[in-house]
Amino acid sequence: METDIKVWTEKINELNKGKEKKYYILTMGCQLNENDSEKIAGMLKEAGYVKTERIEEADIIIFNTCCVRENAEERLFGKLGEVKKYKEEKGTIIAIGGCMMQEKHITQKLKESYKFVDIVFGTHTLENFPKDLYYALKENKKIEDILDIDGVVYEGVPVYREDKIKASITIMNGCNNFCTYCIVPYVRGRERSRNPQDIINEAEDLAKQGYKEITLLGQNVNSYLVYQKQKGEDVNFKVLVNGKEKQVNSFATLLKALDEIEGIERIRFVSPHPKDFTDDVIDAIKDSKHVCKLIHLPLQSGSTKVLKEMNRKYTKEDYLNLAKKIKEKIPEVTFSTDIIVGFPGETEQDFEDTLDVVKKVNFEQVFMFIYSRRVGTVADKMENQIPENIKHKRFNRLKELVEKQIEVQNKEYVGKYVDVLVEGESKNNKDILTGRTESNKVVNFEGSRDLIGKVIKLKIVSEHMWYLKGIYDKM
Ligand code: SF4
Repeated sequence: METDIKVWTEKINELNKGKEKKYYILTMGCQLNENDSEKIAGMLKEAGYVKTERIEEADIIIFNTCCVRENAEERLFGKLGEVKKYKEEKGTIIAIGGCMMQEKHITQKLKESYKFVDIVFGTHTLENFPKDLYYALKENKKIEDILDIDGVVYEGVPVYREDKIKASITIMNGCNNFCTYCIVPYVRGRERSRNPQDIINEAEDLAKQGYKEITLLGQNVNSYLVYQKQKGEDVNFKVLVNGKEKQVNSFATLLKALDEIEGIERIRFVSPHPKDFTDDVIDAIKDSKHVCKLIHLPLQSGSTKVLKEMNRKYTKEDYLNLAKKIKEKIPEVTFSTDIIVGFPGETEQDFEDTLDVVKKVNFEQVFMFIYSRRVGTVADKMENQIPENIKHKRFNRLKELVEKQIEVQNKEYVGKYVDVLVEGESKNNKDILTGRTESNKVVNFEGSRDLIGKVIKLKIVSEHMWYLKGIYDKM
């Protein structure tokens, strides 16, 4: 679906003629939300706005919300309390978007207690943002633009990315899985995949701009095009990559097509679902030149019983067998994962099963979460909720195990040469450059600025918990 963004951004430009206007965005949540914020920024840029990091000087403040993280609601309402004075003092436009706006109890609370908010938009109406802003500016209207639909795919939305080396591309949106702890299927709608040619065009354009790494995003990336196929749609797309015709009809074939793009050195993807990790995807990763051999494989729990309660549709053994199969086909592969500790009904034995999988798979990175209840989910209604103190104790035990494993892994890097994509100056020390290995380890080293944006070989000379230290000896 194409949008009429240009029409509305031109109208806003006309309205603001001669005045310098600034925007401030706060993004909460996952990489998909960050990508949505890049689209909001892209639309605002076209409308003549420039970015500011100083909230007090913004003419429009946007909160792009998430409802997955704990305390998200308190954070949003706290932020709204802080910005109310800007509305009162200088008429700053306050806009709120994102997943939380698809939750009725939140929009109700906004209407009742935060009447100063100008624009509320949901996950299915992001592309209407310039139109909503125009009416808020011109007619001083309060806008609520939320649709309760399965969702559509919009193309042609301008994207403004601050990072000039790494970029993310949303390839599909929504989720059909309904894991019992997760609110995403209720707020992002059903799975819908973008046309592969639009994805390839975006990646080729990024390569032309000098980007070196792309991350493909989706709630369930490896079911790319699957739902369309199930609905009987023709998903045999002929696409052009580097002027050559290719066929794309699945996630595996999309990876193969993207692998052909000249200039893109690394391709990553998050998040796949273990139940949909088919052999053709494993083979596509194995045979590719640019798809990173680090696979993010969300585990969530190592207990078959808990996995069933979570509606994850795989067992502990399925997960371990999948990791083993991938490792056999791609010996250099490494894994990262997500784990939820303290899901309702999780016993000591269930938690031990999680630790067991962590020991066996030896993840390079584990994103650990303490289970927290989400209104509207099945797990929220489960009676056997785990006391907070037990959840925290288990979380600390898992953290300890993961850190020990990372310490051992990091030691193994010392003395080896690794390929590092140099991302820029270190945040803490401008004299140090920083980059990442294919396995996503941060490497800091001394070197000249012209290495930024290049993949170079570094010798690892020492290891620390969260980064490795390398030297560039031009090997
Ligand atoms: S796969 Fe599960 S955890 Fe991931 S977005 Fe869908 S419902 Fe949520």
